[in-house]
Amino acid sequence: MIENKRIIIDVKGHKIGGDWFTTIAGPCTIENYEDLYKVASYVKKLGVRMFRGGAYKMRTSPYSFQGLGEEGLQIIKRVADELDMVSVSEVVSVEDVQLMSEYVDIFQVGTRNMHNYRLLNRLGEIDKPVILKRGMSSTYDERLLAAEHIKAAGNDQIILCERGIRTYDSMHSRNTLDISAVSICQQLSPYPVIIDPSHSGGRRELVRSLSWAAAAAGADGIILETHFQPDKTVCDSQQTINFAELEKIIIKLPELAALWNKKIQRYE
Ligand code: PEP
Ligand code: MN
Repeated sequence: MIENKRIIIDVKGHKIGGDWFTTIAGPCTIENYEDLYKVASYVKKLGVRMFRGGAYKMRTSPYSFQGLGEEGLQIIKRVADELDMVSVSEVVSVEDVQLMSEYVDIFQVGTRNMHNYRLLNRLGEIDKPVILKRGMSSTYDERLLAAEHIKAAGNDQIILCERGIRTYDSMHSRNTLDISAVSICQQLSPYPVIIDPSHSGGRRELVRSLSWAAAAAGADGIILETHFQPDKTVCDSQQTINFAELEKIIIKLPELAALWNKKIQRYE
């Protein structure tokens, strides 16, 4: 059913998959233009070509900040254009897909929407890559079939993202990173597999270890949350790392990715 020819994502020359190890970094959510520009321009200085930021947030509580919506999309596009970077942002609903296509380079489907097949089918109709996060309690077959929903509808530009699953402890680690998933999903599917160390651990003290584990395990990249003032962010501040920590992490990635003959793309 699934042919295993590796898929390499290429957005304006910026790649995920194949021989590449890709880092995507940015805040959990877009709060305003100035802050997003500051974070994105800093991560770019470290060689990171893709940045993240949510305009629509799926919050556990309805009273938490839900995102800036279209204003956030306008901000993320402006920053991507000004810095010539690739933007990643989460889509939470079918009716936002058309609008988001005008603003965002890579769509992200969050853990809570992995089983939203109407949304997955709609994303099969667009010509932009989709980062599909693993449902927090989903099996390999369920998540691979979720990817298949996007592909069957016409889009094979899919990146699988491991963001931690529910196990026994939510006090010391928000979720549990299933590191076996890297190898298993690379064997069972043609898609690049990236790790989200921020949502996996849910604590900034764990992000370095999980990021390096991802690279050492042969993942195709990481997507993580960073900000210049992590404690002041409105969303996921406990797992957001500062720039000094991000730099410490990034500096070691080339040698770890080299274990799997993977390279980091550089700006010329
Ligand atoms: C996020 O990336 O900000 C996010 C909400 O992730 P997840 O869907 O993995 O919880
Ligand atoms: Mn988050």
